[in-house]
Amino acid sequence: MTGRYLIRTFGCQMNEHDSERIAGLLEADGLVRTEEAERAEVVVLNTCAVRQNADDRLYGNLGRLLPVKERNPRMRIVVAGCLAQKDRGQIQRRAPWVDVVVGTHALPNVLDLLRAAERDGPQMDVREYTEVFPSALPARREVRHHAWVSVSVGCDNRCTFCIVPLVRGPQRSRALGDVLAEVQALAADGVVEVTLLGQNVNTYGRDLTVPGSPRKPLFADLLRAVDDVEGIRRIRFTSPHPHDFTPDVIEAMSESVHVCEHIHFPLQSGSDRVLRRMRRSYRSARYLAWLERIRAAIPEISVTTDIIVGFPGETEEEFLDTLRVVEEARFDAAYTFQYSPRAGTEAAGYDGQVPKQVVQERFDRLVELQERISLEHNLALEATEVEVLVEGTGRKGGAQGRTRTNKVVNFAGPAEPGEFVTVRVATAHPHHLVGERVAAAVPG
Ligand code: SF4
Repeated sequence: MTGRYLIRTFGCQMNEHDSERIAGLLEADGLVRTEEAERAEVVVLNTCAVRQNADDRLYGNLGRLLPVKERNPRMRIVVAGCLAQKDRGQIQRRAPWVDVVVGTHALPNVLDLLRAAERDGPQMDVREYTEVFPSALPARREVRHHAWVSVSVGCDNRCTFCIVPLVRGPQRSRALGDVLAEVQALAADGVVEVTLLGQNVNTYGRDLTVPGSPRKPLFADLLRAVDDVEGIRRIRFTSPHPHDFTPDVIEAMSESVHVCEHIHFPLQSGSDRVLRRMRRSYRSARYLAWLERIRAAIPEISVTTDIIVGFPGETEEEFLDTLRVVEEARFDAAYTFQYSPRAGTEAAGYDGQVPKQVVQERFDRLVELQERISLEHNLALEATEVEVLVEGTGRKGGAQGRTRTNKVVNFAGPAEPGEFVTVRVATAHPHHLVGERVAAAVPG
């Protein structure tokens, strides 16, 4: 194919990972990237079904693309991702100008589908099972120094608020050797930081069988193996599930030189009754006990989390339990969400949906508490020196990067993306640090 393509990505890191693969396939076939829909022969919307109003967003985007396509009849529109998987034929019924609908398990077929659409009109490929891991496809990475590496797809849990099991299917782990080969190739290509991706990384490997070996490779084995890859200086992963967390992962984290001192550990609620209704099979005491163990083994670790406010039936007392656990857990940061029912999830049909203004008021209280705690953590870093991996330009024009503990640092340049620098922290804010580059760069 010739021409230009535009890709818009919504949602989580898994979608960013998949978009890099779609871009890789299109570029391998001869297309070049553009940011302007007017100039694109192929426009891909890689959708997310998790966020509220995902439909409105998709159809809003498609509505805006219709007149552009009418002016440029060569344009082909592709809808990929979780909403494509979930809504299937509905998308082309509502927006007949969509040429290709490709589900989460069918990404490798996107080029064939585009060619078939050219020949025979609108195409759809939505299947139930991943045959080729998207990671095995060529990638066009957004940045040169960092790569997303998927270690598993799908999830065997059934959290009642979550659409993932429906759109990504049951968990399938990738062979350890395949993950390792990808990381080695990435390192040879200049990547210094990898983020291992799975819906529940802790259960990595449980579904694998290794011929001739009685033992399955587990997530801790994977961390140690990736730690040994020459050239990789930072390893991150997301996300572990508190229910499936195991001590061997803490050991592997603390003993692996390149695994960063950061863990994203989703709490979702501090109320045991709400956790039960969410079908999250740990309780707050167990969650806090894990945090204590993790911090005892890796004292400098930063901890971030996800919290949902206003889950159906959440009482004021249950919400206060969340505030209490947040106070005790002292997260470095929290991604806080206001519950909204998502079609296709069990909780969408629950009684006791909490009124919007109550959810908002609780949300504001939680954010206020978390911001205070985040600032306290960051204040402790003032006047210290931190290693920063430069990511690009910050909002105010200087350089921006992250510490090993995943804190955003803004500082005056010059600095190149992918460069490791030492920054002296001058001022702390709840969501970022501001500092100055110390003369010497961090040795490789
Ligand atoms: S573990 Fe995560 S991905 Fe799996 S169902 Fe629960 S929230 Fe969704």
